[in-house]
Amino acid sequence: MTSFLITGVKVVDGPPTDLLIRDGVIVGTGRDARGAGNAEKVEADGLVALPGLVDLHTHLREPGREDAETVATGSRAAALGGYTAVCAMANTDPVADTAGVVEQVYRLGREAGLVDVQPIGAVTVGLQGERLAELGAMADSAARVRIFSDDGHCVADPRLMRRALEYVKAFDGVIAQHAEEPRLTVGAQLHEGAASARLGLTGWPAVAEEAIIARDALLAGHVGARLHICHVSTAGSVDIIRWAKQRGVRITAEVTPHHLLLTDVRADSYDPVFKVNPPLRTDDDVAALRQALADGTIDAVATDHAPHATEDKECEWAYARPGMLGLETALSVVLHTGALSGKPGPRSSAGRPAQAAWDTVAERMSRTPARIAGLADHGRDPAPGVPANLTLLDPAGRRRIDPGSLASRSRNTPYAGMSLPGKIVATFLNGEPTVLDGKATK
Ligand SMILES: [Zn+2]
Repeated sequence: MTSFLITGVKVVDGPPTDLLIRDGVIVGTGRDARGAGNAEKVEADGLVALPGLVDLHTHLREPGREDAETVATGSRAAALGGYTAVCAMANTDPVADTAGVVEQVYRLGREAGLVDVQPIGAVTVGLQGERLAELGAMADSAARVRIFSDDGHCVADPRLMRRALEYVKAFDGVIAQHAEEPRLTVGAQLHEGAASARLGLTGWPAVAEEAIIARDALLAGHVGARLHICHVSTAGSVDIIRWAKQRGVRITAEVTPHHLLLTDVRADSYDPVFKVNPPLRTDDDVAALRQALADGTIDAVATDHAPHATEDKECEWAYARPGMLGLETALSVVLHTGALSGKPGPRSSAGRPAQAAWDTVAERMSRTPARIAGLADHGRDPAPGVPANLTLLDPAGRRRIDPGSLASRSRNTPYAGMSLPGKIVATFLNGEPTVLDGKATK
């Protein structure tokens, strides 16, 4: 294994220092990093080192829709976005509801070698919401699954949800809920509000999300198990999560970059790139989500990276699949919103590119998601003895988003043409560079 000496880098909010990486581990900082001998030098003056980002919510589409994304292409997109670990959602084809499928995804991740791919197991067989999948077998498998989710679908049956919570409690697993009461969203196309009324499309009401979060918070409190809420999108959801945390419920929550930036007025364009589930909401929701992320009511940013093939996205709004790309742009979008600058903007227009509080960025995009997912080698600030899973970013850099140059196999980014702050310069996975000079190494 090669040794690397990273020079002049600021570790999170600290002063400039050097980092020496050897055999996959950080072995020295500052003075102790000198005398590195034959280490390959990475000049990092002006760059910030963060613990490698960790995504709790990625759709890699393999097995089944390799035309939209593969574990390898999604892993490359992740590394370019500063990630060292991603949790792969279970709604593949076949569904990741057995030890065999989660081990297949885990193995594909190891083979790609660009990020640690941690499979998420389905809660119910085939995501059908009728009977529990083999949760124990997936937990005991080589993939060591700890997060279970029917994402894309809600575990709507409260009795089944209760049993799932009881089951995973035994091994400190967590149920990640896609909160959507299906009987309230039949035929829904976008947020139920002024825009849906104007366009004459069926609305997806905030209450369909909030009702499930309230129910599941009560269930998780009753059972004493861990509950995680996927892609929180409304101000009312934030209020419920805050209330549940105050009562001591073991609840965590994530928000996507797109729900921190975009609103439902984008639907006016009828451009299906803005169709997503849950839908883009209102200015007031965006403001509440930014505040909740800043104050920790929402624990983590998660991308809900959802690649879709052209024919599934470039069609009439009603027929388009919901979802957006996220991995390569997540950090830049979060910086653009100013939500983690310490002074979040009150409205959805982007805040000034105020200096981010890197400690808070590390907390919401690496340390906390790593803790929720149980990934012990991730989410740790670069320091001697720590596995070298880190990313180097240029906070002064800006990038223009060109869909054609993204590493994902799909092109459905809502940020095409935008200029966004923050450039990932290098990413290291277990001491080996997956990105150098802004380019993937494989
Ligand atoms: Zn979802």
